Amino acid sequence: MSATATRVLVLNSGSSSVKYQLLDMGAEPDGGSAAGTRLAVGLVERIGEESSRLVHTPLAAGGETRETEGAMADHEAALKAVAAELAADGLGLDSPELAAIGHRVVHGGLKFTAPTVIDDAVLAEIERLVPVAPLHNPANITGIRTARALRPDLPQVAVFDTAFHTTMPEHAARYAIDVATADAHRIRRYGFHGTSHAYVSRKTAELLGKDPSEVNVIVLHLGNGASASAVAGGRCVDTSMGLTPLEGLVMGTRSGDIDAAVTFHLKRVAGMSTDEIDELLNKKSGLIGLCGDNDMREIRRRIDEGDERARLAFDIYIHRLKKYIGAYSAVLGKVDAVAFTAGVGENAAPVREAAVAGLEEMGLAVDATLNAVRSGEPRLISPDYARVAVAVVPTDEELEIAQQTYALVNA
Ligand code: ADP
Repeated sequence: MSATATRVLVLNSGSSSVKYQLLDMGAEPDGGSAAGTRLAVGLVERIGEESSRLVHTPLAAGGETRETEGAMADHEAALKAVAAELAADGLGLDSPELAAIGHRVVHGGLKFTAPTVIDDAVLAEIERLVPVAPLHNPANITGIRTARALRPDLPQVAVFDTAFHTTMPEHAARYAIDVATADAHRIRRYGFHGTSHAYVSRKTAELLGKDPSEVNVIVLHLGNGASASAVAGGRCVDTSMGLTPLEGLVMGTRSGDIDAAVTFHLKRVAGMSTDEIDELLNKKSGLIGLCGDNDMREIRRRIDEGDERARLAFDIYIHRLKKYIGAYSAVLGKVDAVAFTAGVGENAAPVREAAVAGLEEMGLAVDATLNAVRSGEPRLISPDYARVAVAVVPTDEELEIAQQTYALVNA
């Protein structure tokens, strides 16, 4: 790597999409720009279809968003198109300023507890984890292979969604099932959204003016997927997602916690296949299953119009959230802050208000005026008297991936 190589390309490869950001991780000594400046962001969607679409915004050049439509047969075609867009802005993959590519990888199992430079052995291990992450790891692997083929000489780093949770103690990570069966099939609670939980818990400590090692934080990552985590002194001690992202909170389209016997019932009594049950619980449940909408904005609008189904969906969502706040308060013993993040957590004031309502005895309260403020900055929304800080902390998974990648290649 040359001394001037400070850029990191972050790739988040899904089954039919690639999201990307190019960040400059070198701070200018005169303070002209902070480390983490975004040079370009974009997304390719509908890969493999006739109507693939690339949306690219060259932020560095103050350039306008460009959209390209047309068939992109596979991830290779998509990444080549992204490389061409970057090159058109003078930010090409062949630039000596590119230090590394950081890949989001969903499942790192127990082995990957930290970001890892990808070589053939690492790639093989990520492949070995496909049975526990059949929906996610294959797409991540395709992204890695394609990027390595384009720039074989460049360090490529895998940043795992599960890594932050590998500090969970055995009593939080194990399901209470037969140990031999669990171990034979690697069945345990891994947790996801770890990059976000790591970033937000650290930022929350910063907001409180403390070192992460000094504070206990409950992080509520409420996006379309949603998860809670209990972070003690900077280390995750419990999280709500499990073997897969299905467990835990009520989500946009996932049920979250459910009696496992419901699946037997659906099979034996309703005659559904395993794939149908998978689809029901992952894609047709949660908010969308309860009321037909998974967007919290729409649900709030319907509630304001007196829609009872939307109201019940909201109440079930909040009830589950409260249960996790209570459970993680007990797990942590002492809570310094509850931090809301992601699409719903950052934007939906009524969710924050309702999740904390009635928890005054636990030291939790929200100030209505502070809660109503809209901002992209980390901020406190609890009144001064509250024993526990309630915060809104925008997540930034791409920045976290870029930071971890850059730190590793410069180590
Ligand atoms: P993902 O899990 O797809 O990364 P996000 O973190 O982007 O999800 O969150 C998307 C969700 O955030 C939407 O489905 C919607 O429910 C919610 N959301 C986004 N903006 C708002 C808003 N202004 N008010 C309420 N909810 C919002």
